[in-house]
Amino acid sequence: MKDETQELMYIKCAYCGQWLDVKPGPINTVSHGLCPRCYQKESSKLESENEKG
Ligand SMILES: [Zn+2]
Repeated sequence: MKDETQELMYIKCAYCGQWLDVKPGPINTVSHGLCPRCYQKESSKLESENEKG
């Protein structure tokens, strides 16, 4: 008999909470990342802060 339960890791945007991805990984863990939109927002924020100097 084979155990068919698949171990999945869920990836969630740390900013807006949107689910980004599901990958094979440690069972039912939630990992945090940034979705493309929030990533862009954050990097443009950093850029404008740098410009202030
Ligand atoms: Zn996001």
